[in-house]
Amino acid sequence: MKIKINISSDIITKPIMAESILETGVLLNISQAHFDRSCGEVVADVDEDKFDQMCKSLTSKGAKVTKLNVPIKWDENECVECGACMSVCPTKVFSMDDAFSLLVDESKCIQCGTCVDMCPHNALSLGNNR
Ligand code: SF4
Ligand code: SF4
Repeated sequence: MKIKINISSDIITKPIMAESILETGVLLNISQAHFDRSCGEVVADVDEDKFDQMCKSLTSKGAKVTKLNVPIKWDENECVECGACMSVCPTKVFSMDDAFSLLVDESKCIQCGTCVDMCPHNALSLGNNR
């Protein structure tokens, strides 16, 4: 399952993910990470049956952990097939078929929200996370 780990400025210099992996023995497969001076945001996969263990460890170190279980929602009726979402999606959720119709593979979505901001026709939305 995909999770998002938010790390605030007061703990950003601490190796909390490494500590949690060592502490729990649970592996994280990181698919996206963004850090700057003020905060960090990491999207990672973790075994579903190990989520509680990892979440408890990360939370005890000050991180915020969110399950990413609501992928992108595409409103086909609003879409004008401009392709803007294709150019910004980091995981290639969007593609076009031979007739230039948009194809959406929700299973690849890591819920970063970038395409929602880019879509000129409000055809894209995220559920409970953005
Ligand atoms: S950015 Fe919006 S309107 Fe453009 S192709 Fe993607 S979903 Fe459709
Ligand atoms: S939310 Fe992010 S990963 Fe998901 S479809 Fe949009 S740009 Fe791609």
